[in-house]
Amino acid sequence: MKTEYQERESRFLEMIRTCRPDMSKAHAAFCAKYLEPVFGPPDLAGNYTLDIGANPRAMFAAHSDTVHSVGGNQKIQVSGGMVRLHPKAKSNCLGADCTTGVHIILEMIRANVPGRYAIFATEEIGCIGSRDYVKRRADELAGIEFVISLDRKGYNSIITHQMGRRTASDSFAFNLAGILDLDLTPDPTGSYTDSNEFARHVSECTNVSVGYFGQHGPGEYQDLAFLGKLTERMIRADWSQLKAFRDHTVTEFDDWPLTVSKGKKSAGKKAGYSSGQSWREFMRDFDPWETGPMSMRELVRDYPHAIADWLEDQGLNANDLCNELGISNGTRGGYGNGY
Ligand SMILES: [Zn+2]
Repeated sequence: MKTEYQERESRFLEMIRTCRPDMSKAHAAFCAKYLEPVFGPPDLAGNYTLDIGANPRAMFAAHSDTVHSVGGNQKIQVSGGMVRLHPKAKSNCLGADCTTGVHIILEMIRANVPGRYAIFATEEIGCIGSRDYVKRRADELAGIEFVISLDRKGYNSIITHQMGRRTASDSFAFNLAGILDLDLTPDPTGSYTDSNEFARHVSECTNVSVGYFGQHGPGEYQDLAFLGKLTERMIRADWSQLKAFRDHTVTEFDDWPLTVSKGKKSAGKKAGYSSGQSWREFMRDFDPWETGPMSMRELVRDYPHAIADWLEDQGLNANDLCNELGISNGTRGGYGNGY
């Protein structure tokens, strides 16, 4: 008979076989198979949310999309406690980012751990699902003190800053590390992820290491033992001991220079930073929470499902649209299995 640990691991290994770029048929199939039966239907932006217990203080988050270039199934292999792509797989990444986070959340729900659970849509192309949640459902955040995204490489990080802005306090990071009883420490080097979208509404917004490495690339792998341990700790944790410290109405920058790591350097480059600049200087004129009416392009980008449904309601189908726009309908990458 399988132990509970082995059962969890098999459920994870089944899910990690699916490649599901946003908007692909494979993504829709994944949501229908793994998310809808647990969460019910998604909101307008494609986000799945569920509360267990009344007045949750913590939101546990992950995202449903992966950075695979083609949807379908992929071959994987497990060796030395690590899961990675099979050498013959033609896939461009494993997708532990964020299948691992989705898995931990599903296991916490299965174990009936109180909290709010959120699987956001379209994280990998700009945190679109979570941004929409904050925009339209901000009133539901009353009482939420923590957003804990299960979406970070490595073994040791509790993210305290994203792109140079503080989103969680160091005190909270130490508190959370203690509650999970894992070797986790405050890490200020986070990039933009879903939890960042909540930083102006919720006191402590963080991402926690889930034991994957090399995310977004063909060498990506996941440590299964770490995953098993973290899942167990997330289920058994005494969440009532978690405390919030940060004042979310105050914006605090980190002062380390932009040139520290590759990811940040390229992010800065795009916006035209000069070397030696600090995050404080770079971010001064840039407000990621900027609000205002959306352009047509932004609407199409943020609500593709709703707009596609509406066009179909108007009597247009994909072929009509292609004819109208002069697009050849037969050029997408294809939807294959077992490559
Ligand atoms: Zn991710």
